[in-house]
Amino acid sequence: MPAGELAEFHGPHVAPPTPEHVKLTWHQPPRASRIRVIFHTCECRETTYELCATAGQSFVRRTDRTEQTVRETPWTLTAIARHVFEQILRGKAR
Ligand SMILES: [Zn+2]
Repeated sequence: MPAGELAEFHGPHVAPPTPEHVKLTWHQPPRASRIRVIFHTCECRETTYELCATAGQSFVRRTDRTEQTVRETPWTLTAIARHVFEQILRGKAR
């Protein structure tokens, strides 16, 4: 299996939050909506983060398998949501 494919399957691990990290607002997800997952973090962790797109907007979805909760950041422009996702990966936002 090519290295790129393997990396895509597992996804990256999020860095631990830095002391000065931005605290994101997490909402209960709305009911039925068609969502496309663009990118996701590694599923070996209890909490996974997904960059999602729907109806021309994007957001980050957080799934906590221990607490069995799903939360989303506010829907926004894809460029902004990508930035938030990157910040989460680097431990600069949660
Ligand atoms: Zn992993």
